[in-house]
Amino acid sequence: MARYTDAVCRLCRREVEKLFLKGPKCYTEKCPVTKRAFAPGQHGEARRQKLSNYGLQLRQKQKVKRMYGVMEKQFRKYFAIATKTKGVTGRVLLQLLERRIDNVIFRLGMAVSRAQARQVVRHNFVYVNGRRVNIPSYLIDANDVITVKAKEKSEKKIRENLELSKDRDIPKWLEFNSQELQGKVLRLPEKEDIPMTIQEQLIVELYSK
Ligand code: SF4
Repeated sequence: MARYTDAVCRLCRREVEKLFLKGPKCYTEKCPVTKRAFAPGQHGEARRQKLSNYGLQLRQKQKVKRMYGVMEKQFRKYFAIATKTKGVTGRVLLQLLERRIDNVIFRLGMAVSRAQARQVVRHNFVYVNGRRVNIPSYLIDANDVITVKAKEKSEKKIRENLELSKDRDIPKWLEFNSQELQGKVLRLPEKEDIPMTIQEQLIVELYSK
């Protein structure tokens, strides 16, 4: 599967916004967005001109795609599903992304980034309602119970991640038992549950052209 393998901080710098792709470093002074709040590259600083409508729409789409670690093809698939689903397309799109199991593992604090959460899932540590799930794009549903069962060394790492993530709040749509490494989906997520400013209507406008 195609995956972005270049320096991830560059992605945040391009959006001139923290996308929290690296874990603990994102919360420190060392974060490049904190140090240099302008786009990367030779003309990055000069490129701070006013964006066109298309530019605004494109940047918003790129930001969300990068934040959730989803490639263009898959992102378009989510958009196609969102357009066919009852509800406001942009909000349904965000809900689909937020329901990904890798995102849920990240939100529960068992991984310091979504990239690390994908590894936890791929390494066969994650069970949903007692059944193993090793596909990071798997979508959780309301009332699903997510359990992480790992060998001693991996469990230690997951517990270390929990310690590193202790300042991040568990979203209201999830419940977590850190002793059992078990989470429960209380309800489906809403846009208001996402702790980022996202203008999803711009993404809808971009793809509706
Ligand atoms: Fe890098 Fe994290 Fe800062 Fe983004 S938020 S630039 S990933 S340190």
